[in-house]
Amino acid sequence: MKCYAAHPELSKGRQFNEPSPTYRSEFQRDRDRIIHSTSFRRLEYKTQVFVNHEGDLYRTRLTHSLEVAQIARSIARALGLNEDLTEAIALAHDLGHTPFGHAGQDALNHCNKALGGFEHNHQSLRVVDWLEHSYADFHGLNLCFETREGILKHCHLKQARELGEVGQRFIDQTHASLEAQLTNIADEIAYNNHDIDDGLRSGLIKIKDLREVALFEEAYVAVISRYPTLDGRRLIHEIIRRIIGRLVVDLTKTSESNLLLAQVKNIEEVRQYPQELIQFSTEMRIASRELKKLLREKLYFHHKVYRMSHKANMIVTGLYQAFMDDVRLLPPEHQQLVKDYQQHYGEQNKSRAVVDYIAGMTDRYARQEYQRLFEV
Ligand code: MG
Repeated sequence: MKCYAAHPELSKGRQFNEPSPTYRSEFQRDRDRIIHSTSFRRLEYKTQVFVNHEGDLYRTRLTHSLEVAQIARSIARALGLNEDLTEAIALAHDLGHTPFGHAGQDALNHCNKALGGFEHNHQSLRVVDWLEHSYADFHGLNLCFETREGILKHCHLKQARELGEVGQRFIDQTHASLEAQLTNIADEIAYNNHDIDDGLRSGLIKIKDLREVALFEEAYVAVISRYPTLDGRRLIHEIIRRIIGRLVVDLTKTSESNLLLAQVKNIEEVRQYPQELIQFSTEMRIASRELKKLLREKLYFHHKVYRMSHKANMIVTGLYQAFMDDVRLLPPEHQQLVKDYQQHYGEQNKSRAVVDYIAGMTDRYARQEYQRLFEV
């Protein structure tokens, strides 16, 4: 590992002091705790873009998180960063996602507007800091500062002030570790590419649509000139693996030369450096943005996806309103949370407990709850 990597023995530590693990590093322990958590298992039944019941081969939040971890870990190794921390952040980065993907998040954000809205990054941190109930000595998973810092990708200033040390960088406008910066971009590489794959599989986008985008077209031409008769799944996979390869190589090379130029000697200098050092080249940033734009127009805003979003909105909003109108509809342990939250959240206790309950639901659990409450 290089000097600018996050070193577990120099960690800023955990909120609750614990003896060091015997055979693992502190970051390995974080990764292991994430994998053993309930929220991690729930990712299997949470929507990425396509709802789980639409087909068995689409990405879910779980397979998405594994792909992010794979991409991030390869680059971490190439750059001499801490692989265990990178993997821990990648596996945890979407733990706070609501059911039904972004549609669910938007609905919950809208419902909770008066009380500061809902943001999945912030919720991911809540999951690892509070909402897991498995350990006798503390709430949450009691992860290291560096893992928590990486999970909190964005944050409103108001929230940052309430979060203490982990929110401080949004106030000071400094940066997170290189491992956190890397995982953030690996997330983008993973979803852009698997959304091409899932989009084509669903038939909502076509190869001819994607050929308008330079990044796709170049990979397409490279594959077809080598294998002129290739088609179907093999063609798509050969194109996508080339796009991922180009993005990964560009990100690694650009970041490597940024690091060489910056001469940062430790993680503190990384945090204080004027820019983020893990970056694509300008050319690749533009190419990647073009791909994103096309996916947004053709896939995320496709009327079939929109209809799913509409339904998600109806379910999430319906559940929120019903629980807010009458907390006795909540399961007993969540009614108890309303009381427990009183001290910390004052008048917001009810909405906080309702939001935590809904955000934790898988797609199918949310649908079942909706049916149980509204169908006669
Ligand atoms: Mg993600």
